[in-house]
Amino acid sequence: MAVRPIVTIENPTLRQKSKRIKHIDKSLDPLIQDMIDTMHDAPGIGLAAPQIGIPLRLMIIEIEGELTTLVNPEIIKTQGEWEPEEGCLSIPGYVANVKRAWAVTVKAKNRQGRDVRIKGEGLFGQALQHEIDHLDGILYVDRLENMDQVRKVDYSKRGLREREQEELEYVG
Ligand SMILES: [Zn+2]
Repeated sequence: MAVRPIVTIENPTLRQKSKRIKHIDKSLDPLIQDMIDTMHDAPGIGLAAPQIGIPLRLMIIEIEGELTTLVNPEIIKTQGEWEPEEGCLSIPGYVANVKRAWAVTVKAKNRQGRDVRIKGEGLFGQALQHEIDHLDGILYVDRLENMDQVRKVDYSKRGLREREQEELEYVG
């Protein structure tokens, strides 16, 4: 178990397309555990492997205590749209409202290597889109029409924890 450093926007790993994972087995467990520890420490509601400098298609999301671990995820359907506030652990101190689908259906493998299909709406859907973007080298600021839409925030870690769930800006 270890909290790993989260790489930030200038790190080239965040800009590359991460590789599919061919062998999904227990050998991924230590990496997944480190990602969970790192996400909890941040704190955020999601984390993608490239955010700790590992260009593999692996991501986690935890909302209201429910952990979702996805390997090689792909969005296969989107529905509706909204423009929620969003932040990224790799772009600390900033948020913006980002155009997202309201709901997405994702096809992936779980950590046991089995096929899963999940639908996420609202915050969960937003987090799925945010983390899958990371696997493709896309950051939320790339989805803005204008960088003026980015706002500075100044929440201490404690303040952020208190705001968790309902208003957390750092999607992952
Ligand atoms: Zn992010």
